[in-house]
Amino acid sequence: MKAVDIIIKKRDGGVLTREEIEFFVQGLTRGEIPDYQVAAWAMAVYWRGMNADETTALTLAMAHSGQVLDLTPIAPRVLDKHSSGGVGDKTTLVVAPLVASLGLPVGKMSGRGLSFSGGTLDKLESIPGFRADLTTQEFLTQLQRHGIVVSGQTHDLAPADGKLYALRDVTGTVSSLPLIASSIMSKKIAAGAQIIVLDVKVGRGAFMKTQAQATALAELMVRIGHNVGRKVAAVISDMNQPLGNAVGNALEVIEAVETLKERGPADFVEHCLQVATQMVLLADAARDEDDARTQLNAALSDGRALQKFGAWIAGQGGDARVVEDLTLLPRAAIIETVTAPREGFIAAIDAQEVGLTVVDLGGGRVKKGDPIDHAVGVVFHRKVGARVARGEPLFTLHANDRAKGDAAKARLLAAIEFSNAAPAPLPLIHRIVR
Ligand code: URA
Repeated sequence: MKAVDIIIKKRDGGVLTREEIEFFVQGLTRGEIPDYQVAAWAMAVYWRGMNADETTALTLAMAHSGQVLDLTPIAPRVLDKHSSGGVGDKTTLVVAPLVASLGLPVGKMSGRGLSFSGGTLDKLESIPGFRADLTTQEFLTQLQRHGIVVSGQTHDLAPADGKLYALRDVTGTVSSLPLIASSIMSKKIAAGAQIIVLDVKVGRGAFMKTQAQATALAELMVRIGHNVGRKVAAVISDMNQPLGNAVGNALEVIEAVETLKERGPADFVEHCLQVATQMVLLADAARDEDDARTQLNAALSDGRALQKFGAWIAGQGGDARVVEDLTLLPRAAIIETVTAPREGFIAAIDAQEVGLTVVDLGGGRVKKGDPIDHAVGVVFHRKVGARVARGEPLFTLHANDRAKGDAAKARLLAAIEFSNAAPAPLPLIHRIVR
């Protein structure tokens, strides 16, 4: 078999066999297929798509490109959650310690920023010393000791996804249903959790722009999970405006810590509670939704969730003093609050444009392996539906370069749409797929 023949077959709309997909995944994992062929193949898949059998074969080949963990000796049921990618989506930073603080172990393999969407690992690495590059043994030890671990791909765990993910980020091949489904589910299968809640984002700041696409992605991933014996549910959540107020790595860590201290923005708090509720229900750890919410709210208000966050960060080498002292996080040199140019209602905030603006400020990657500026980003003071007076604070920009900051300010102002009448409120959750 030759890589080029597989690229041509997909380019021409053919259906790849399991053997061809395995050959390609093994070749890219071993470095025998070079980046340019992998990128060409990803673009062919982007345009031509894959059927459910091909996507399942790709998922399993990537999951088995390294070790597949069996976590049952550590805990009979480990929980996981994963987002399909959004803007301002720091949900894991709150939900993982919140659920773990109820005594439900959370073990998760996460990703880095992808195109306009931020990555949990990049956010966590804003915390001085935090290590996302755990070995498999370190992953297991952290899970056993603290009941919570979030790490990136290692050479041992889903390395094929690690390679493909980094290439997709910079080759315009992210928003492909089969590539997203296989990327997410291969990590979930390799990391070994038995209970998985998928947060499938839909809208302007998501890779799935329509309800139909998001539902198809959710159903496919739930099906793949069931086929390999996992308990899976998917929450389809709105991503037309940024989630919460902060977008940018360290700024999102600050918002997550504030949320664990019960001072988070209402939309983000509600989103976290909804995702965490589904995890608790799937683990059969609550009678019903009300019971799950009562347990989760108690863990927030009595400080258990915040304490778990500190133990998690410290366990992975991070400076847990950030819990009490957020000034330990990187801070931008230029911090400027921008006011409303007119009065009216905020009718829309283009989440994708916000995400791309933060990437251009240095908060994301343009080329594979680019370093990240953790300090930059934006914090919104008003969101969709708010009525604003002229001159009222709209957002605060955090930049480390004057020219980039000025460009970002103009782009963000253009990304906000005003109206004279109140817009229809944006929903948070569209539906749940079980
Ligand atoms: N998250 C992932 O892990 N992979 C994707 O492709 C998109 C979001």
